[in-house]
Amino acid sequence: MDLVSCIRNVPDFPKKGIGFKDITTLVGNGPALQQSIRLLKQKYNDQKIDAVIGIESRGFIFAAVLAHEWGIGMIPVRKPGKLPYKKISETYELEYGTDTLEMHEDAVSAGQKVLIVDDLLATGGTAKATAHLVERLGAKVAGFGFVVELDFLRGRDNLSTYRVESLVHYDSE
Ligand code: AMP
Repeated sequence: MDLVSCIRNVPDFPKKGIGFKDITTLVGNGPALQQSIRLLKQKYNDQKIDAVIGIESRGFIFAAVLAHEWGIGMIPVRKPGKLPYKKISETYELEYGTDTLEMHEDAVSAGQKVLIVDDLLATGGTAKATAHLVERLGAKVAGFGFVVELDFLRGRDNLSTYRVESLVHYDSE
């Protein structure tokens, strides 16, 4: 199955010039969802992963199913103010302004090896901030798993010290 054909491109969303890669059409298609999980699993089957981190909110979908496949836990990294318990946070630069992500301080422990999953890699700022949260708690990032990678934004360069695996690549908006 061709995963690209299951992803809807929405031009000029959320603002002019952005080609939004809408994965709701992929996750709404049983065989396409199954294939994306199978492929992500294959990429990291050579490693012993202790937990899968999902980035709010579309990352939760893939991270939870993948964690379930391996029989390990899924850990949410969330936008500010959503997590109820003690947490650590990481602020990172956007094109205009900053954004913040949070994780419970007991979500991972020192020495654990985790896989970070999101629907899409753009500039890599979100992914890198998530890696910093994990590392501040003493855990190790085994790598990143993305369904979509926007190659032209060079997010991979921002994550050059990590293993990065993506299922589908776009070389323009
Ligand atoms: P970045 O930090 O620039 O790598 O942005 C990645 C985050 O923004 C991911 O959580 C994506 O869901 C979202 N995102 C960025 N650009 C797009 C896009 N063109 N289509 C869909 N989601 C996007």
